[in-house]
Amino acid sequence: MRVGCPKEIKNHEYRVGLTPGSVREYVAHGHDVLVETGAGAGIGADDNAYRAAGARIAKTAEEVFAKSDMVVKVKEPQPGEWVQLSEGQILYTYLHLAPDPAQTKGLVDSGVTAIAYETVTDDRGGLPLLAPMSEVAGRLAIQAGATALQKANGGRGVLLGGVPGVLPGKVAIIGGGVVGLQAAKMAVGLGADVTIIDRSIPRLRQLDDIFNGRIHTRYSTVEALEEECFSADVVVGAVLIPGAAAPKLVSREMLSGMKPGAVLVDVAIDQGGCFETSKPTTHAEPTYEVDGIIHYCVANMPGAVPVTSAYALNNATLHHGLQLADKGLRALADDPHLRNGLNVHKGRITNRAVAEALGYEM
Ligand code: NAD
Repeated sequence: MRVGCPKEIKNHEYRVGLTPGSVREYVAHGHDVLVETGAGAGIGADDNAYRAAGARIAKTAEEVFAKSDMVVKVKEPQPGEWVQLSEGQILYTYLHLAPDPAQTKGLVDSGVTAIAYETVTDDRGGLPLLAPMSEVAGRLAIQAGATALQKANGGRGVLLGGVPGVLPGKVAIIGGGVVGLQAAKMAVGLGADVTIIDRSIPRLRQLDDIFNGRIHTRYSTVEALEEECFSADVVVGAVLIPGAAAPKLVSREMLSGMKPGAVLVDVAIDQGGCFETSKPTTHAEPTYEVDGIIHYCVANMPGAVPVTSAYALNNATLHHGLQLADKGLRALADDPHLRNGLNVHKGRITNRAVAEALGYEM
């Protein structure tokens, strides 16, 4: 099969669908890989690195779209990209169709077979192609919080790890899933005093085992949230109710009980945010202040570290990508988890949640 990888064109997107290492794997499986010139520039991989891995370099995105049986990307196709997709072609990328009727119509009209990273499942009920980006965001949340906490950045001026003779800073993490676990690891690594709050007791039990007494765990009630937020230097919002908007767990009123200059990092902002006062920000201007509390609400946190994020994403997408390249659509019949990734096929929506959200017939 001919596998194509165009350069990402979404604003400030520096990741790439195929790293040179992934190209080598496709080539080793006997596939012909076509990469747009400059596609890997954002992760420091130039055309020669792709050539060395066995790819051919295309001068334009148009050439990649026109000549590929399967197009591998990172972000959902932009309007200029939908029109280049066609029936019989496979598109393998993040799509997030439910809130995006225009893109959905573009893909339906194109006739393409579109597989969305975010709806591929695994045996444990997880979303394995989404998890690596949550891991990145979770780890980054503590770096972002620690930076915002510095006095010159508007924060309280507390060093999370403290120093000998001075107590460490306090970090409260609301939601102990993928993001929460990784945030906790970073905060513990820095020497902070860490509490994870979750509404799942089995998950709290697991976290307690993982950290073996190094963190505190609390069941999520209004009282626990108030107590932990009021004493925290950094609060990380990392809750998820699948398919729903994030619940607003910290109200504006609660901010007045917090320490002035404390920091809220709302990782759940991509689902609307779990603090009442959250609004999406960008890497260019990541923070703002409300009632003396610093808010960090960047909706695409992994974009800050495209090198790490692109490799983490490729690690997660490679296996299924190779299956698709090796077997074509038979790969979907062979693997129900990959089949769950199928969102659009020959002009029809094939994912129930997307069809229901946008009023399409299945
Ligand atoms: P996850 O499903 O692994 O974990 C969510 C956790 O929240 C679960 O343990 C759940 O029990 C807990 N939870 C749900 N309701 C709660 C409540 N009321 N109180 C306390 N805990 C509660 O999800 P995840 O992968 O960790 O993702 C967390 C959020 O981060 C999601 O909204 C995700 O979209 C977002 N995210 C954002 C970025 C970004 O760049 N901003 C990147 C990756 C993920």
